[in-house]
Amino acid sequence: MGYSVAIDGPAGAGKSTIAKQIARKLDFIYVDTGAMYRAMAYYLLQNHVDASDTAAIDVKCREADIRIRYENKEQQVWLNGENVNGMIRTEEVGNMASASSVNPNVRAKLVELQRKMAETDNVIMDGRDIGTTVLPNADVKIYLTAGSHVRARRRYEELKEKGTICDLETIERDIIERDERDMNREISPLRQAEDAVLVDSSDMTVEEVLGTIEEVIREDRGRKGLL
Ligand code: C5P
Repeated sequence: MGYSVAIDGPAGAGKSTIAKQIARKLDFIYVDTGAMYRAMAYYLLQNHVDASDTAAIDVKCREADIRIRYENKEQQVWLNGENVNGMIRTEEVGNMASASSVNPNVRAKLVELQRKMAETDNVIMDGRDIGTTVLPNADVKIYLTAGSHVRARRRYEELKEKGTICDLETIERDIIERDERDMNREISPLRQAEDAVLVDSSDMTVEEVLGTIEEVIREDRGRKGLL
């Protein structure tokens, strides 16, 4: 097992921004598990599978060969031999990912891949169930959250910057709906692990969040004689 940091939390809390920077500083591998659920969702959308059609998802998810590679330390998701990194960041794919990630077969397949990655490397992994299910023995667990209005505003700014036309109210409604589904599903719902450190980034800058989390990691590594 490598050293592992788990970061869980709702959509738009800033998990990937923070995890990427920490990975760079510590020379860890950043594993974005949401991207795996998104690649699966992309495959299902391409095959015109309905989000509510459990039987079709059960069958189709077996056909999706999802792999992770790193280019210049950036995670790239490959789906059946094709790099789909550029295709999975849309709201449509995000909403389908939230809907299809309730499926046990989808989860089992992706959790296996995630655990394998943590076996061989030092990782900082973000998602919804990393501290509770994927890596219950992670060295450090963070639960990163923020109010839904703040998270919607951040996502809105991000999309606007990319030139995507979007509406703040729709984004906030989608975010709330997605959180509810993530928190109330039967398997691996989004929740704070008992031994996770809670960080509410509503009124914090990126630098402040980064500083707080880095300190938690530094303390843990110091205690384990890893500094
Ligand atoms: O984090 P991101 O928005 O990319 O994740 C997309 C969706 O994938 C989430 O809304 C969630 O339903 C699902 N997901 C999950 N478990 C994870 C990561 C993501 O269920 N570990």
